[in-house]
Amino acid sequence: MSSTTKLHDLKPLQFASEDTIQSAMKNISQIVGPDNMTVSKSELDNHSTDSSNFVPPKDHERPHCIVYPTSAEQVSQIVKICHDENIPVVPYSGGTAIEGHFIPTHRGICIDVSKMNKIVQLHEDDLDVVVQPGVGWMELNEYLEPYNLMFGPDPGPGAMIGGILATNASGTNAVRYGAAKDNVLSMTVVLADGTIIKTKNRPRKSSNGYNLTNLFVGSEGTLGIVVEATLKLHVKPKNEVIAMINFKSITDATKTVSGLFKSGITCNALEFMDDRQMLAISEMGTGGERTWSPHHLLLIKLSSPNLNSLNDVIKTVKDVGIENNGFNIEIAKDDETKEEIWRVRKTLLWNSLQWAKKVKPNATILPTDVCVPVSKLPELITKTMDRLNDADLLATAAGHAGDGNLHVLVIFEPDQAKVAHELINEMSKLAIELDGTVSGEHGIGVSDKRELLEQELGIETIDLMRTIKFALDKKGILNPDHIFKIDPSEDRHPFS
Ligand SMILES: Cc1cc2nc3c(=O)[nH]c(=O)nc-3n(C[C@H](O)[C@H](O)[C@H](O)COP(=O)(O)OP(=O)(O)OC[C@H]3O[C@@H](n4cnc5c(N)ncnc54)[C@H](O)[C@@H]3O)c2cc1C
Repeated sequence: MSSTTKLHDLKPLQFASEDTIQSAMKNISQIVGPDNMTVSKSELDNHSTDSSNFVPPKDHERPHCIVYPTSAEQVSQIVKICHDENIPVVPYSGGTAIEGHFIPTHRGICIDVSKMNKIVQLHEDDLDVVVQPGVGWMELNEYLEPYNLMFGPDPGPGAMIGGILATNASGTNAVRYGAAKDNVLSMTVVLADGTIIKTKNRPRKSSNGYNLTNLFVGSEGTLGIVVEATLKLHVKPKNEVIAMINFKSITDATKTVSGLFKSGITCNALEFMDDRQMLAISEMGTGGERTWSPHHLLLIKLSSPNLNSLNDVIKTVKDVGIENNGFNIEIAKDDETKEEIWRVRKTLLWNSLQWAKKVKPNATILPTDVCVPVSKLPELITKTMDRLNDADLLATAAGHAGDGNLHVLVIFEPDQAKVAHELINEMSKLAIELDGTVSGEHGIGVSDKRELLEQELGIETIDLMRTIKFALDKKGILNPDHIFKIDPSEDRHPFS
């Protein structure tokens, strides 16, 4: 037996018949109670389509039912039935993932963990918290507020811990606190046959064999279902301000990012928005009371335990900005202004989608999530935007510049579809050439990144992932087809 598993050596997946699934649903209903299972069409649609609709489900791709377990034991019993009967299982938390992550390509049962939403135990002195998977990151932060603590990752509003761990999500705070993988100490997981395992205890570090916690992080529901997690917490930054610096050139803005790192200061967030993004904000009137400059913008969150050292940090940021031709430097200090600025940043995706529909009502919109070493960011952004302009394609660019993570939203009319897809592909390939990745934080799902992943990591690495998948899930029931192909007869294309 070889160490890796080639796709062409596998047999096509075979799942249960309709009759078997209907009879399994009756048994599952007895486990969760009839109120915690639904076959309502609108719910089935909601649990197959995310609100961005970047990667839409095909007409037949709806689960047979959605179940809402309330405990790890219930999840285990449901999964055991599905395992015994060969029924696909798709885990679901907040439903905010945007790469077709929870599209049930083989239908089956959707397990929605949103009713498992208890904060089990806060260990204030250890800076960790034990939570169920249906706790939202925003609700968790509200709960932690009186303790002056916070959870690091801040992905889409509505995202929950189960989905955040399963996608290795991050957000604007990642430059300071890292991604989900850096913010989890241990997990309790239901495996494909219903076995419940805990990956480790709560110590900050351990050299206790395989790092199973991080095996499940980013596995997009394909290896197990997270039913509990112990998360690292952080003390909220003191004396936080937001620096805003405008630039006329993208290169100057991105060079400032490297300059800030080299200056040795710590940024709590370091975000970039291009001039087209700024135009979208002003044309949609979503920028609140403030007048936003139309130029490229860096938004930088800074803090320090005391005000004197904060002033030193601010001075360094101003110096680095000016060295790189930055202007309009403003430091937002009061809570209301800071909240308003950050609200605009956190709702950028919706703002751009609405703007795109306004300026091109028939347009389709596709995002990129490429991520490169920070020194390569100027080359990535300038080459990308030049190519889009040459092809006469409308696009906005924004990103977590401090992590080298760029989200370009490409907006195209039906007759531009071919060239738009080619260019998005080209951008991903450029990121790979620059020693980067096709996905900095959103994940792969069933998007066209599945194919690009082979180019990024090499076929052998994907073959190894396939070996791990089948070692843990012999029947391939857990979120089949996501991240990489596991069925040689599958020919799903995300956009046809
Ligand atoms: C407006 C907007 C902004 C966003 N901004 C960011 C951002 O800044 N950074 C970022 O990283 N992402 C961002 N995202 C993407 C999204 O928020 C993240 O991918 C998030 O982590 C998904 O969490 P969720 O709870 O919604 O998971 P879901 O969408 O429900 O599921 C995501 C995946 O996880 C699996 N899954 C769900 N629950 C479990 C479980 N309990 N066990 C195992 N697998 C499970 C699912 O099968 C699926 O494959 C954004 C999305 C939107 C809409």
